[in-house]
Amino acid sequence: MERVYNFSAGPSMIDESVLQKAAAELVCYGDKGMSVLEMSHRSSMFMDIYNEALALFKELMGVPENYEVLFLQGGATLEFSAVPLNLMTGSRVADYIDSGNFAHLAAEEAKKYGTVNIAASSRAENYVRIPDLKTAKFTPNADYVYITTNNTIYGTRYIELPNTGTVPLVGDASSNILSEPIDVSRFGVIFAGTQKNMGPAGMAVLMVRKDLLGKADPLCPKVVDWTIQAKNESMINTPNTFAIYMVKLVCEWMKARGGVPAFYEYNQAKAKILYDYLDGSKLFHNPVVKEYRSLMNVTFVTGDEAKDEAFVKMCTKNGLLNIKGHRNVGGMRASIYNAMPVEGLQKLVAVMAQFEKENA
Ligand SMILES: *Cc1c(COP(=O)(O)O)cnc(C)c1O
Repeated sequence: MERVYNFSAGPSMIDESVLQKAAAELVCYGDKGMSVLEMSHRSSMFMDIYNEALALFKELMGVPENYEVLFLQGGATLEFSAVPLNLMTGSRVADYIDSGNFAHLAAEEAKKYGTVNIAASSRAENYVRIPDLKTAKFTPNADYVYITTNNTIYGTRYIELPNTGTVPLVGDASSNILSEPIDVSRFGVIFAGTQKNMGPAGMAVLMVRKDLLGKADPLCPKVVDWTIQAKNESMINTPNTFAIYMVKLVCEWMKARGGVPAFYEYNQAKAKILYDYLDGSKLFHNPVVKEYRSLMNVTFVTGDEAKDEAFVKMCTKNGLLNIKGHRNVGGMRASIYNAMPVEGLQKLVAVMAQFEKENA
């Protein structure tokens, strides 16, 4: 059967060559006589996979030496709790920049553990932009400042990071990790769920500056405690071995294609095809303030729900799946992560043009 172009926000497309490799290795991994799914996480055969995944990820991301990289279960959402449980233990105040639904959810979770100050928010503007950092009200002795680097649902991204001085910056990069250069050294902690740009769902990759370890709340569960996980190679319990293996395959695929710089260039070219079309369209409209447009999630509407619905149907008929927007925004959203080929964008704008002609 022919594969479709899957514009899902996550889980999302994985390159076919990566899936083929996983399929070919599934029953017997190399000469090991067993599947990755059957390997003990403590065995040397699995530790080789783990070490390769770790080294490749660090190389692609340019992770500095003074950071630990952890593979953690519970996806990005468990890190919404892990961040305060590991860091909100000094002044017990943290600053959150509310740039979208996931930032809002992270702030709501953190309120269970201390005082959350919303330093800036674009919620009242339905998150069509990144909040103004110049007028943000930061707390001088905050335990950390929290941002979401790319807003998956609203289709915006940071174009500059807040300057937080000595207060550690924490970033959720779930939807733009490995898609553009990110200077890890600007962050105390940066993490991402794996199901958008790195493989299957259920895991997060987290980078933490080593001097921020050792601060966890005594009530922090040990699987959530970064210090304990760092001391135990993310294996305080059985890790998601298959997701770690898939991260390795995705990183190998990315490296062979020129790594993050090559994907950044490709992603810019892909996004431009769609934004250029939207800017010239009389029917479709991108609601986001231009300078904050995401390269990974492109939202657009016709302004008429019946037309939106008809367009989504037409896309499905043409092998363009999951183009319906998030319920908070309506309309359409094209998630165009690293594994979405340029042909998917070309086909999408061709279908948009045809729809526009028929609905003028
Ligand atoms: C998808 C996403 C999440 C949630 O990820 P889960 O793995 O489902 O917990 C959190 N933050 C951002 C920015 C996301 O895009």
